[in-house]
Amino acid sequence: MTNDNLFATLRAAFPADLDAVAVETADTPQPLHYTWRDLDRGTAMLANLLASLELPPGSRIAAQVDKSVEAMMLYLAVLRAGHVYLPLNTAYQAGEIEYFVGNAEPAVVVCAKRNFGWVGKIAFNAGVQHVFTLDDDRSGTLLDRAAFHADVHEPAPVQGDDLAVIVYTSGTTGRSKGAMLTHENLRSNALVLKDYWAWRTPADGGDVLIHALPIFHVHGLFVAIHGALLNGSKTIWFARFDPAAVVARLPEATVFMGVPTLYVRMLGEAALTREQCAHMRLFVSGSAPLLIETFDAWRERTGHTILERYGMSETVMLTSNPYRPESARRGGTVGFALPGVGVRIRDDRGQPVATGEVGHIQVKGPNVFKGYWRMPEKTADEFTDDLWFKTGDVGKVDAEGYVTIVGRSKDLVITGGYNVYPAEVEALINELPGVAESAVIGVPHPDFGEGVVAVVVPRSGAALEPQAIVATLKTRIAGYKVPKHVVVVPELPRNQMGKVQKNLLRDAHRALFEPA
Ligand code: AMP
Repeated sequence: MTNDNLFATLRAAFPADLDAVAVETADTPQPLHYTWRDLDRGTAMLANLLASLELPPGSRIAAQVDKSVEAMMLYLAVLRAGHVYLPLNTAYQAGEIEYFVGNAEPAVVVCAKRNFGWVGKIAFNAGVQHVFTLDDDRSGTLLDRAAFHADVHEPAPVQGDDLAVIVYTSGTTGRSKGAMLTHENLRSNALVLKDYWAWRTPADGGDVLIHALPIFHVHGLFVAIHGALLNGSKTIWFARFDPAAVVARLPEATVFMGVPTLYVRMLGEAALTREQCAHMRLFVSGSAPLLIETFDAWRERTGHTILERYGMSETVMLTSNPYRPESARRGGTVGFALPGVGVRIRDDRGQPVATGEVGHIQVKGPNVFKGYWRMPEKTADEFTDDLWFKTGDVGKVDAEGYVTIVGRSKDLVITGGYNVYPAEVEALINELPGVAESAVIGVPHPDFGEGVVAVVVPRSGAALEPQAIVATLKTRIAGYKVPKHVVVVPELPRNQMGKVQKNLLRDAHRALFEPA
């Protein structure tokens, strides 16, 4: 019987020379070198530790840990053991973790040592049996325990349709939804991208990836990691993005993946030149719209055309600009539907639109997720009767097949590549003393793509202090969700249906973050 375990596919792609370096760390006090054998043995020991816990099939393993090679190995070990990985943003605070743990009911929680007090308490109160710690200096109880386990492990047999990962994406109502991705969702997408982006295996000269993205999100966890592993390519591993340090390593690399903010930051480095990029083969951007200014400035400075692609937690990658010819990569578009992926545009009533007309983006394919964890009704709402997934994005497809995203139907704000759902932030602001109501919007920000702005109405007679609102929010939610600016106004603009007209607010505050 074949085993559909994604780890087995990745492991089969390891190069014959298991003593070659698979990962080199760039920002540890000393560079660390992990061979392919180290990845194999380390993930086997972690998988054996998980197996020793005798967890029921389909158990969730939640991890809120700093980025490290060991954290990546934990992800791979969860696949290998046949359990379900649940990555959590390191910025999440207690209220958020409480929700995820309550909703996903993980069997195991792994957290940073410094957070063990509060994360452990939330987990144990919710009935979680096992809480381990893992820090980015290779310390913590997870590795201590794994050290007692054997370093060989046969990947657990799974079916392609079995869950591999649950990625939480916030909902517009403020409630997060867990997108259930299967082994086959992830494998099919990784294999398509391997061909589409012409990854070079060691036999054809090899690629070297610079990995500088977080690993609790699809871009860094799936697109980047699967890409490198599936090709036996070496990775230069940055735990934190530092534009100067990344630019300094470009001559050793061939592939870089970033959110638009990273490209903007790197353009701020004088050391970013054509010569510095001469060895590079591919720069990929996604997760948020890449401004044409950035696309053009990058081409002018480096001679390389950034390849923009589009995807989401529920579907992994959907569209991509072509690899060849480079001149066919079109700025402002996200390229073509990937092979095997269907992309169609529908109007508000679900009817087809004419070519080039704007409408709702719907998608289908082996990469499209199984549904939202324990939300069958929400899942049903997000699929059409003929089983296309409604992405919530608004866009168009031209006669050649290029897809352009023009906006988000749900007013999502994307700041520095992270999604902020206004309703979640508004709900917190509205609870503060003296606040009548609020509207959270995103406006152009030179560094983050969009900056979060809160427009707040005081209760009659109350005086609101914008700085105090910001300070309170910082203790309640992840920093990237906290408004960078708070505007106090006497009332919010509304249409006849009583809906707040966020477009008017965006227009009014459009220039807030423009350089003076
Ligand atoms: P997430 O689930 O966090 O990956 O966010 C997915 C959303 O990010 C998509 O639904 C889009 O709205 C947005 N997105 C991803 N890639 C792009 C892109 N290249 N251009 C514009 N928006 C993008």
